[in-house]
Amino acid sequence: MTLTLPDPEPGTVVRDTIEVIGQLPTGEPETLPCIVVNGVEDGPTLWVTGSIHGNEVTGLAVCQDIVHDGLADHLAGRLVSISNLNPAGLRRNWRQSYYNNDDPNRKFPDVEYVTQNADPGDTVEGPRPPRQQKILCRRLFDCFSEDADALLDMHTASAGAHPFVIRDRVLYGRGLRDESEARELAADLEAFAEAFGLPVVFEYAVEEYLDQSLQCSTSGSALNQAGIPAVTVELGQHHVVEEEWRRQGVAGTYRVMEHLGMVDDAAAVAPDNLGEFPAPVGPPLSGQVRRYVGPHAPSTNGGIVRHEVAAGDVVEAGDVVARVVPLDGNPEQAVELAIDHDGWVTHRYPGATAYENAPVASFAVEDDGDVVGTPEDD
Ligand SMILES: [Zn+2]
Repeated sequence: MTLTLPDPEPGTVVRDTIEVIGQLPTGEPETLPCIVVNGVEDGPTLWVTGSIHGNEVTGLAVCQDIVHDGLADHLAGRLVSISNLNPAGLRRNWRQSYYNNDDPNRKFPDVEYVTQNADPGDTVEGPRPPRQQKILCRRLFDCFSEDADALLDMHTASAGAHPFVIRDRVLYGRGLRDESEARELAADLEAFAEAFGLPVVFEYAVEEYLDQSLQCSTSGSALNQAGIPAVTVELGQHHVVEEEWRRQGVAGTYRVMEHLGMVDDAAAVAPDNLGEFPAPVGPPLSGQVRRYVGPHAPSTNGGIVRHEVAAGDVVEAGDVVARVVPLDGNPEQAVELAIDHDGWVTHRYPGATAYENAPVASFAVEDDGDVVGTPEDD
């Protein structure tokens, strides 16, 4: 099954759907909403996708709101906006899809896929055939790897989260690309990520990246398999549309379109629903940073987490960022959790109950890692 995108005349907008599963068990097809804006001049194709995690709805609203009737007249190239990549998650306000309760953002084709499948039409997946979510992701991958020149994937992190853009390291080796090609792509990616106007945070180093299957995320697959600039954008908290970060998401998309040469002046062409064009959000700390999840509750006992920092706070190595308190409140058995890096808090983990080894927060910590990496060192 090959996905068919709407194909409007130059200078027009089409709001339509694309069929991604021919027939669900209940008899109907599964479709995704798809808006295509075809500009009056030639230029690149930018894909903007949202809510592959079905409860991350600020990104969904961004995808709805980046399109307005007058855009096509000012656009060079094509804008493809898919506000929901996960209908089976959106219907129940849930991160996963309910086909097999998979995280859809870990099911896109990965390094092994590229090595084993020279022809993307092949279905070499090992002794068990791929299940529904992986098939759906593959259809999407085949479509955007053919169609898109760049991709923005809109997410949210957790309650009160500071917004940020996640920049992955570009992988080389294993038949993907050589190191010099990886460095070229990383330079394009740097300019693309910076253009959005939110703090840029590197994804985990290669070993942890592969361990967490992030090469199989939407943007990881677009970047590292399809070889196009692609980032994940984190816009605050789950479950509700956050107006401030919706506006930053729309403005960031227009700043990226200006960077790609698709519009001349982002602020002048932006939709009315944006209000005044917001200024970029500066990072709380200068210099290269990467994502870091921790510190972790003790492996000896769980408890109730009392955070001592909030999103956006700057921390130094050794700072206590949380305490894990036993349910009876005994202060003598409370455990202090210190961070062992300098950095800033991107978000606290939701839910105050910490089981053994549970991480309590996520940070952007100082990083001197390379912008490219190879899985061949594993
Ligand atoms: Zn997400």
